[in-house]
Amino acid sequence: GSYKYTGIIEDCCCDYETVDSVNGAVLYPLLQELVTTPFFRYFKVKLWCDCPFWPDDGMCRLRDCSVCECPENEFPEPFKRPHGLPKEDLVCQEGKPEAAVDRTLDAKAFRGWAVVDNPWTNDDETDNGEMTYVNLQLNPERYTGYTGPSARRIWDAIYSENCPKYSSGESCQEKKVLYKLISGLHSSISVHIATDYLLDENTNQWGANLQLMYDRVLKHPERVQNLYFTFLFVLRAVTKAATYLEQAEYDSGNHLEDLKAHSLIRQLVHNPKLQAACPLPFDEAKLWQGQSGPELKQQTQKQFRNISALMDCVGCEKCRLWGKLQVLGLGTALKILFSVDGQKDQDQTLQLQRNEVIALMNLLNRLSESLKSVTDMGSSAAMDGLIL
Ligand code: FAD
Repeated sequence: GSYKYTGIIEDCCCDYETVDSVNGAVLYPLLQELVTTPFFRYFKVKLWCDCPFWPDDGMCRLRDCSVCECPENEFPEPFKRPHGLPKEDLVCQEGKPEAAVDRTLDAKAFRGWAVVDNPWTNDDETDNGEMTYVNLQLNPERYTGYTGPSARRIWDAIYSENCPKYSSGESCQEKKVLYKLISGLHSSISVHIATDYLLDENTNQWGANLQLMYDRVLKHPERVQNLYFTFLFVLRAVTKAATYLEQAEYDSGNHLEDLKAHSLIRQLVHNPKLQAACPLPFDEAKLWQGQSGPELKQQTQKQFRNISALMDCVGCEKCRLWGKLQVLGLGTALKILFSVDGQKDQDQTLQLQRNEVIALMNLLNRLSESLKSVTDMGSSAAMDGLIL
């Protein structure tokens, strides 16, 4: 009575059982703790809906769509921009215990992080003018009611224009990568919608929607496969950047919490259990090797930038927040794995921004949660009725 996948994950180096067990026992608990630390829970984002493709698209006005932006005094001092926000623009989180203000902050300037643009993404990360800070812990990715033509249009544009589905028998692995990454992300978004669904609008009851989980993800083996692929791809990026991530400065102004974040990062990137179970989650060295390698890479980069730009068209604020974060996270993984040409030791030249690292780790956490939901819900007794 379970709905489990077995065997080696396509184009990867580990099997489902190993990935599930190392995720459940090691990665998931570490990541869950990591994303609650002050350094990792505030994400800088341009939430302004600035769609270059369909200028008619209005902002989503559904209740569950709006993102709660952080009041100035809520996010870490070192993250603040110099001039501050106009007070009337702030939507308060007052009264919610999870929004309790951490005031043990000092005014140290943030150090040790590069301010450079990511060639894989569209947003100008150095443009502080239109950015706001969002407390991710207060804005969980879940069902928002965003659906219909606007949502469909985005997914269609992503799939049909930017990463055409590879035909079966396609031998060029590079072409598959982008499709699989996006499909895996799409699966993860669907899993989060299914695990945290508004079951009853009148009583405001939230919970798991097994039918949706099955219809959108579990009954399509390819979507589950791609979810695992994306997880391993991002995991590989994180372990490849191990030295960099370990030496980086996690400074939110809260010394104890920052020490904790640093220690969790170290446990993640140098994990003996992970290294023993799945030493090379994905082998990026096999890609872009042929004669057309550089050209293919350029093309993929351009396509990914278009996908990143499409996030500005997502007509629901909270979906846009998570869409942007996760696409930036993927862009960061791509940057780590592919952007430094011909360098044996990436750590020498790799430069990451604070926001990229926050996106990368939060993305890995989302994917890790999705894997866990797929295994938990997939093997739940209630699933039997749906599968048969
Ligand atoms: P969709 O999920 O819209 O899928 C459209 C089509 O894509 C499917 O018919 C299928 O052909 C194909 N497809 C589906 N899954 C995959 C896959 N894994 N791999 C390959 N192809 C696939 N809604 C929320 O409630 N909360 C959110 O946080 C949220 N975030 C979003 C973020 C982004 C960037 C976008 C574009 C949408 C988001 N949405 C969110 C909307 C949500 O993803 C769906 O579009 C919506 O729920 C409607 O679902 P659907 O059943 O029409 O299928």
